[in-house]
Amino acid sequence: VATPEIDGQRLWRSLMEMAEVGALPGGGCCRLALSDADRDGRDLFVRWCREAGCEVAVDRVGNIFARRPGSDAGAAAVATGSHLDTQPHGGRFDGAFGVLAGLEVMRSLEEAAVCTVAPLEVVVWTNEEGTRFRPLVGSGVFAGELTVAEADELTASAGVRFADELARIGYRGELAPGERRLAAFVEAHIEQGPLLEAAGVPIGVVTGVQGIRWLRVELTGRDAHAGTTPMALRRDAVAGMAAMVTGLEEIARAGDAELRLTVGRVEVSPNSGGTIAGQVRFNVDLRHPETATLERTEGEIRQLLQRLAGARSLGLGVRRVLARPPVAFDPELVDQVRAAARRLGHGTREIVSGAGHDAMNIAGVAPSAMIFVPCRDGISHNEAEYASPEDLAAGAEVLLHTLLAKAGMGP
Ligand SMILES: [Zn+2]
Repeated sequence: VATPEIDGQRLWRSLMEMAEVGALPGGGCCRLALSDADRDGRDLFVRWCREAGCEVAVDRVGNIFARRPGSDAGAAAVATGSHLDTQPHGGRFDGAFGVLAGLEVMRSLEEAAVCTVAPLEVVVWTNEEGTRFRPLVGSGVFAGELTVAEADELTASAGVRFADELARIGYRGELAPGERRLAAFVEAHIEQGPLLEAAGVPIGVVTGVQGIRWLRVELTGRDAHAGTTPMALRRDAVAGMAAMVTGLEEIARAGDAELRLTVGRVEVSPNSGGTIAGQVRFNVDLRHPETATLERTEGEIRQLLQRLAGARSLGLGVRRVLARPPVAFDPELVDQVRAAARRLGHGTREIVSGAGHDAMNIAGVAPSAMIFVPCRDGISHNEAEYASPEDLAAGAEVLLHTLLAKAGMGP
């Protein structure tokens, strides 16, 4: 039995070959979930897994499980993986890196003829990005966040059903989601932010995923003529909204460095150049790694909105429409990631994920962790997304050693 070694060049070649599926002129990828390109990417992955000696199974929402058996046939699998779907102007590494780093682990073990005690699996989770349907569907069903029937009835913007699209591309499988237990799940991913690059280290030890809340705010004033209504007599919902957005930004800037607050969507009614707007709806997106901070900041936000609406005689409605609590990854598994990086001599930085990931769902049903690698200028969800072959190889090495530590070396 030889020592398994990650082949960084082979990993890079596989990433570049996968990137040709749904390739865009600007160097990025478009593989929308359950599209023809998604199918072609899946087909390529399945072929590579079979060539690497894995058995492939698919569940009812199209999650793909590529298994390398262990010496203990009854043991739950130690799993890795991510997603192959992309944003409409997606990059070559978001999702694909985690899937193909898992494949590279399988290839290196096969080459070195290593047998683990627990089986290893590489999982492709269906529809992470949510461009066509809601985000995180495959891992959500696996973790019991939604049912197969609920997933089936999701519709893409064109009015096309999830179930029909899944059958059309040939990935409606037989397994009941969640039927196969996982002993652990470790997801490798590009950071999609600037912190690792700034720290000059190749490995992010991800301790959790920040929480997110959405508030939907509705302001009611009075439609009126822009030319005849004196300023003092107006109940202008747009002017009220503007004051609120400015105040919200001040709250966010006064908070700690990990607080994120965004007003990214505004609807104005009647949205006409000559009319003072009687109604505005906008969305507040609030994120932080700690529930206490989310709670306190939401309180400050509500007070500010009430004060400003009162001062301008505007009706105010505030509804919390989304609340995902922060996720803390399994401390023992996070330790194993840290220890693997240290043994390999790779510099690390602790990091809380700013973006949602499949591992956040899986953390609800199995000990989970993530490994981040830097991406240039922190750019992602962009065709220009780039990660260096060296950093990607380092991430795959840490993944290999974390999975081996968890699965155990066989006879
Ligand atoms: Zn991703």
